[in-house]
Amino acid sequence: MAKVVPRPELTFWERIYFAEIFKGLATTLGHAVKTVTRPDTLPILMYPEVQPDIPRDYRARHRLMKRPDGSPRCVACYMCSTACPARCISIVAEESPDRHIEKRPAKFEIDLLLCVFCGFCVEACPCDAIRMDTRKAILAGDSRRVFVIDKEQLMDWDPKDYPATDTQSQKAPGGSLHAQALTDFRAGSDH
Ligand code: SF4
Ligand code: SF4
Repeated sequence: MAKVVPRPELTFWERIYFAEIFKGLATTLGHAVKTVTRPDTLPILMYPEVQPDIPRDYRARHRLMKRPDGSPRCVACYMCSTACPARCISIVAEESPDRHIEKRPAKFEIDLLLCVFCGFCVEACPCDAIRMDTRKAILAGDSRRVFVIDKEQLMDWDPKDYPATDTQSQKAPGGSLHAQALTDFRAGSDH
């Protein structure tokens, strides 16, 4: 059953509006004066000279996780593209030369102009192969084509930009856990 929200009773001065208009203008004027006289007290970022500090768990541009040999963790199962409500993930699978892995993506593209940054692809992935923790949230380009990011762009990230506690990232080439991870990977004990 619908909940009835009672309308507030307006006073005489609220009903003639003029007093409220001047109250609103006074608030606007107060903010304008404060912007000029005390800019340091306002929550303003001098962008683009000062970049925002985006939290790691913010759903930003995607990346594809890497195995210790630098190949994608993705097994081209299509779970992410099936879960994607915007239908903006395009995958072409091929046979993997690694006997431990059945398939790998020959092509993996995401159209960021269609993406709604819901994170369903990350949730759907069964092997932690796609993440949205790049903190790249400010995207700009001069053509639509640059917003379609391919496999190489998705895998172009450096473990040094990720926390030491992020073991999956640190096992990738260049990471602090890479040497041991590569040994285990070649021995077939860590895929
Ligand atoms: S974040 Fe959402 S819309 Fe964007 S690619 Fe992933 S599932 Fe699709
Ligand atoms: S990113 Fe994950 S869910 Fe998407 S195809 Fe690769 S393994 Fe499957």
